[in-house]
Amino acid sequence: EMTKHYQVVGNPIAQSKSPFIHAEFAKQTQQVISYQRACPEVDGFAIEAQRFFGSGGLGMNVTAPFKLDAYNFADSLTPRATLAGAVNTLALQDDGSILGDNTDGYGLVTDITQQLGWTLKGKNILVLGAGGAVRGVLQLLLEQRPAQLVLANRTLAKAEALASVFTHLGPLEVVEFAALPAFPAGHFDLIINATSASLAGDLPPLPEALIAPETHCYDMTYGAQPTVFLRWAESLGAGVRADGLGMLVGQAAESFRLWHGVMPEVKPVMAALRQHLKA
Ligand code: NDP
Repeated sequence: EMTKHYQVVGNPIAQSKSPFIHAEFAKQTQQVISYQRACPEVDGFAIEAQRFFGSGGLGMNVTAPFKLDAYNFADSLTPRATLAGAVNTLALQDDGSILGDNTDGYGLVTDITQQLGWTLKGKNILVLGAGGAVRGVLQLLLEQRPAQLVLANRTLAKAEALASVFTHLGPLEVVEFAALPAFPAGHFDLIINATSASLAGDLPPLPEALIAPETHCYDMTYGAQPTVFLRWAESLGAGVRADGLGMLVGQAAESFRLWHGVMPEVKPVMAALRQHLKA
């Protein structure tokens, strides 16, 4: 059987777990693939994508800082990628054109509702951050019909610009971090940290009253150790916490399905990746 070629593009890219995840999916579903990393200069995405698809590549994952470049590169877009304004998956179509999709929201929502079994419908949700990751998840979160979704960001104008695209989908509000103490203690059922603060070992300036024992805490960042945000939440008594490893494997699974027409099983690959991170 002919090897099919895929890759993940980002800068930096060495840390990416996507090659590991896709190799596991391929084993599981008996696909013969190669899946490489590529790290163009920050202004070099389009040239790299041309080269890759021009030399027979079939699909590409895209991570920071190139999700907007990928959006612009695609010949056509899925509705969810159009709304997100960001693309994390490119796929060669039968007619030779390139389709852009965004599977981040699918990865987050299936992790939360299916793997973790948490409920989003009717809940008060706080999302921290307004970067590329939040772009990809707002539509799918709002489609779960939360009672309220509050978006808090360090730079308010960035959150406002982002939210304006999604307000027609549900009860979406934007606040600055300084406004968070105005909410009653334990008001939020779920807090999702989508800032990159965790990567630097930082915590956004959050009031302790946000956390009640039943507050579900999710950090999109993942690693061998719990993030600062999750450790902070635990220290305040939050009993239910998760990192973004399930989101990562979930978005990869949806990309894999788009490329290969088969949905791989997420659970065993999450377990393998958890082991791999510890090693
Ligand atoms: P971006 O760079 O696009 O956005 C970063 C966001 O974090 C901005 O809202 C920024 O605020 C905020 N921020 C950064 N530092 C701080 C700080 N010290 N205090 C408060 N806010 C801060 O990143 P992404 O949206 O692409 O990614 C965010 C995180 O999510 C990353 O850690 C990434 O690894 C993770 N991620 C995980 C995925 C998964 O599958 N699990 C998928 C995608 C992302 P401001 O606007 O004010 O600059």
